[in-house]
Amino acid sequence: MGTRGNSQESYQFEDGAMKKIEYGRYPKARKTVGGGQSVDEWIKEVDKSKPAHHDYRDRSLKIHGLICARCGREFDHASRHLLTVHHKDGNHLNNPPDGSNWENLCVYCHEEEHVR
Ligand SMILES: [Zn+2]
Ligand SMILES: [Zn+2]
Repeated sequence: MGTRGNSQESYQFEDGAMKKIEYGRYPKARKTVGGGQSVDEWIKEVDKSKPAHHDYRDRSLKIHGLICARCGREFDHASRHLLTVHHKDGNHLNNPPDGSNWENLCVYCHEEEHVR
């Protein structure tokens, strides 16, 4: 649930490697990735599957710091996946760049916030 940081990084790496093959030595090559899907289509799908919230999560952590706004628990880079971004107005599409709709909450406080 929203804490898949590591798998993303490996995806990006594979993505880059595939692009290298596609646009490097064999620019016209139509390699398939199984199911008759071309590399181009596959890359597009990988791009699409990147969650949009990945971007605002990083920004919110940068703006508000690695600390839970409720219980004050502090996090570091090893445990930052336990810190989630809560939307104060409940609208995940409302992401003002100044971070005014975001609140960094640890997973425990975040659950509390939505149970009430
Ligand atoms: Zn907390
Ligand atoms: Zn929330």
